[in-house]
Amino acid sequence: MRFGYEYGARSIVTTDLGWKTLYQNDANNDDGVEDIADLNFDNLNEGCKGECLSADWKKLETKPKALYTMDSLLNDLTRVANYVLDPNLKKVLIDKDKNKEGEHGGIGTPATRDEILKGLFERGFLSMKGKTVISTEKGRAFYDVLPDSAKYPDMTALWHQKFLEIENGILNKEDLINSVIQFITDEVSQIKLKGLNLSHIKAYICPKCGSALSQINGKYGLFWLCNAYKTKGCDARFPDKNNTPDLTYIRPVISEYKCHLCSSGLIKRRSKKNPKLFFWSCSNYPNCKQLYPDVMGKPKFKID
Ligand SMILES: [Zn+2]
Ligand SMILES: [Zn+2]
Repeated sequence: MRFGYEYGARSIVTTDLGWKTLYQNDANNDDGVEDIADLNFDNLNEGCKGECLSADWKKLETKPKALYTMDSLLNDLTRVANYVLDPNLKKVLIDKDKNKEGEHGGIGTPATRDEILKGLFERGFLSMKGKTVISTEKGRAFYDVLPDSAKYPDMTALWHQKFLEIENGILNKEDLINSVIQFITDEVSQIKLKGLNLSHIKAYICPKCGSALSQINGKYGLFWLCNAYKTKGCDARFPDKNNTPDLTYIRPVISEYKCHLCSSGLIKRRSKKNPKLFFWSCSNYPNCKQLYPDVMGKPKFKID
């Protein structure tokens, strides 16, 4: 090793040719046996030295990881060991799930994972964009100010190690409880001392249920939706006004008059051009774009 760089090498060795056996003797077939298999590490031992005869470099762009869907996020939580920083703790977490089906060093249980994700949506740290789960500006800002102990799953592994020590009689449970209390007290006092610099995050609270509101870039432009839309069924939504939710907006009341085309209820609206005039629109918009003129406060169905 020179210049302080570490080099890596990779080799793929085919142990079973499978269908490629058919093409083995085909001179012009690229689908045959890859030449990467020529790199054979079988004779290498720890401490082996070699000489670098030539080197080449290529400028490539790294591809970002695909965004999470709800499924892939839940799946990744069963493999949270991948994100543990300490290699020893990583092993603890993987060993924990050794004989568990569907778990590969995970955090929590399916039930607690659901609850935690729900909480992250309701507090406005996560949001859905189509089928992908995205972090909100607020979520990212909050993450940035958290200490590493809260960002990485190492703690789960560490506590699991402690549980094993209790099981084996090395540690008593009061000691673990005390150390957890001590840890949390220390973290909280650090925050009290330094504060969490979150002043730049604007949070908008749903007036109906108290959850956070998220700005959504919908099919018909920006609007604000309550984060508890999916979890608590809160249907509060507000139009966007200069990147803030217009909380003064009152949703139109659907009247008892029915649309002649689709039987949905009609909504009385004020004309934007002439505020003295009213008209009636179908509540099934945008599927039904039917409009009716207003005559004496009622929709006029027949146009003479
Ligand atoms: Zn709400
Ligand atoms: Zn209609």
